[in-house]
Amino acid sequence: MLTELQPGIYYWHGGVNFGLLVGADRQLVLIDAGLDAAAPRKALRPFLEQGYRLAAVVATHCHADHIGGAAELHRRFGCPVYAPAPEHLVLEHPELGGALLYGAYPPPSLQVKFLQPQAPCPVAGVLRPGPLAVAGLTLEVIPVPGHSPGQVAVAVGDVLFAGDSVFLPEVLEKHAFLFMVQPQTYLESLERVAARRESYLVPGHGPHLVRRPGHDPLPEVVAANRAHVREIQDRIRAALARGPMSEEEVLLALARQADKAYNSDPSYYLDRAAVSAHLADLAARGEVEPAYPEGRRCWRLAESPRGRRA
Ligand SMILES: [Zn+2]
Repeated sequence: MLTELQPGIYYWHGGVNFGLLVGADRQLVLIDAGLDAAAPRKALRPFLEQGYRLAAVVATHCHADHIGGAAELHRRFGCPVYAPAPEHLVLEHPELGGALLYGAYPPPSLQVKFLQPQAPCPVAGVLRPGPLAVAGLTLEVIPVPGHSPGQVAVAVGDVLFAGDSVFLPEVLEKHAFLFMVQPQTYLESLERVAARRESYLVPGHGPHLVRRPGHDPLPEVVAANRAHVREIQDRIRAALARGPMSEEEVLLALARQADKAYNSDPSYYLDRAAVSAHLADLAARGEVEPAYPEGRRCWRLAESPRGRRA
């Protein structure tokens, strides 16, 4: 479903949201490109029938559900595709999507559409923080890494396309573990989003937020994201207080608490990566450290916490 938030600034609300901007001379810009090109095609059709053309795709981040459609759009319309570094490499080398999760070239069970784009797509340019002129529009590119290594949000007019920098409470409830690669950076990016003043915020998933003086839902949403990160890390500390555990044991202990049992590689490896990120974050703060009881790779609470990032 296409919703117009401001004149010429639309977003498609589906399983994955994307933005559609009307620029100068009947040029269109997409912010993200969907899991595949089906939804962007639907969103674009009425415009294309009136002589508009797709001038560019701007990716907030390179998870397959946000850029899976880019290769086909580029092939059909010849439009340049812009993405943030370092993850722009996933557009050009889709197998890296699965490799980042698995730690090596992934098995077939991870080479699925949801985890890696099904075709490579050339990247016309890497997004840098600051103004971006495209199709007669000036967008603002705001770095919000943490959920992915180089994620950006895109501001245009009075609308912030936030990508997956912030998740709505209803999305949080569905996921035992929010996917993130750097929890500390995720928290810092949340603060950057919280400080924005746009009246509309379009998240990567779920309906848009309308922020009005006296009624601003964003602080509560940001607080729920912060609380999620804190809760996962508290649970990891509590689990390791019982003794050293392998990464898998930590994951399964936390999953059990969330009533979650795994039966597929994508959900197992996504959650494993998120838990690994939290463990790395705690290790960077000197709270946990690697241990090898009887040659088994484990994490344990650090004997003398350094509190490096107090
Ligand atoms: Zn994502």
